[in-house]
Amino acid sequence: MISEIVEKQRKYFNSSKTLDVKFRIEMLRKLKQVIIQNSELIEDALYKDLHKSKTESYMTEIGMALSEVSYAIKHLRKWSKIKKVKTLMANFPSKSYIIKEPYGNVLIISPWNYPFLLTINPLISAIAAGNTAIITPSEYSVSTSNVIYKMINDNFDEEYIKVILGKVEETTELLKQKFDLIFFTGSPRVGKIVMAAASLNLTKVILELGGKSPVIVDDTTNLKLASKRIAFGKFLNAGQTCVAPDFLIVKKSVKDELIKYLIEDSKEISNSNDYCHIISKNSLDRLVNLLDEEKVIYKGKIDGLKMEPVILDNVTFSDKVMQEEIFGPILPIIEYENEKELVETLKDYQLRTSYPLAFYVFSKNKKFIKELMKLRFGGGCINDTINHLASHELPFGGIGNSGMGNYHGEHGFMAFTHEKSVLKKSLLVDINLRYYPYNDKKNKTIKKFLK
Ligand code: NAD
Repeated sequence: MISEIVEKQRKYFNSSKTLDVKFRIEMLRKLKQVIIQNSELIEDALYKDLHKSKTESYMTEIGMALSEVSYAIKHLRKWSKIKKVKTLMANFPSKSYIIKEPYGNVLIISPWNYPFLLTINPLISAIAAGNTAIITPSEYSVSTSNVIYKMINDNFDEEYIKVILGKVEETTELLKQKFDLIFFTGSPRVGKIVMAAASLNLTKVILELGGKSPVIVDDTTNLKLASKRIAFGKFLNAGQTCVAPDFLIVKKSVKDELIKYLIEDSKEISNSNDYCHIISKNSLDRLVNLLDEEKVIYKGKIDGLKMEPVILDNVTFSDKVMQEEIFGPILPIIEYENEKELVETLKDYQLRTSYPLAFYVFSKNKKFIKELMKLRFGGGCINDTINHLASHELPFGGIGNSGMGNYHGEHGFMAFTHEKSVLKKSLLVDINLRYYPYNDKKNKTIKKFLK
């Protein structure tokens, strides 16, 4: 059955129907309507899967997807225009241009943490660029995946867009098919499986992965505000956010004051009915297992799948909690004393481990910030956390172990677009230079053009 759908989509793509920009805009408008019509069902599903409140669901998933689709509708004509470029004199007389061509039939695999946004956002880019798509949302966010299944499959032809539900077995089957591009969001571990499968067909992959993203706080910043913004980024979605600050490094002289604010903010979050739950018992057990009770300085309650914020102090890079992406509401704190030494420590840490998806610094010290910005990471913020991803203009993606490729806005359109180069040569004039036999005069002229 899976291979039949892939075959149907390949044929449909070959009909060139999706090359028409008017058709793509129509489909994006339709998708926008479908999202609006289903928004209550999506909210209910997100509440069932993650105990996500209506506000958080809209702010971090439905609203973000609507904003992305509206932006694509507005700009698609401009993005998809043929781009004329200059031609080298060596090719005189001719014209050069780039056709923005869809890859073809793409596969989108998404995770459970922002199960709606991270499925629909790549789909918006795929449609905008003119691809057909098979989508497989996560088996862990069952309710949201079911809503996505119904809302897409009831409204779009399966030879154009189709949602396939399933577990590892079905995704493995999907990965055996020939696609023109695979867009995967998930863990580095599964990213490697996807890339290995894609390599058999030399299929392009875009990998949106995770990692341990640091947040640095020095002694020049507004600590109260830094705490608020760190706690927001860390405990949003109960810490199950790919760009959440994974751990905090703070200057020793201001550590106690920052901790005081962080505990206040964590208490407020713990008391909120809007706080999200952990996706599964397995995930919760993994998180509890990361805790070193001797280092806990604040710990909210654990009640069913609700795990309130936990703060650990005096953590070192060799602690258990520092050996894997936390992906939950645990904030380890490491202290530092000297900015220069910290930069060297971080450089060394990155060399030994990997480049994070995100990086954050709270500071007014321009020199320190400049040094930190030389580190390698997917993207980040100065004086804030996670909000760099809420942008149509900033490309969103990782580097190395945190991913390859990026998307959002025009970057998303380009991620799903092949740039086809065309050189159109005149038939009226033909410069003899390149043809045999060669001689000194030709040599000299070639050297004049190519230098
Ligand atoms: P995951 O890698 O376990 O699963 C992602 C998807 O892959 C799911 O749809 C799942 O069904 C599928 N999958 C799982 N095992 C598979 C296998 N063996 N073969 C084929 N497919 C398989 O990730 P997750 O637990 O859903 O999400 C958490 C991870 O995702 C974290 O590492 C997080 O940082 C990362 N993440 C990254 C981003 C980003 O935009 N960069 C966003 C969200 C999450």
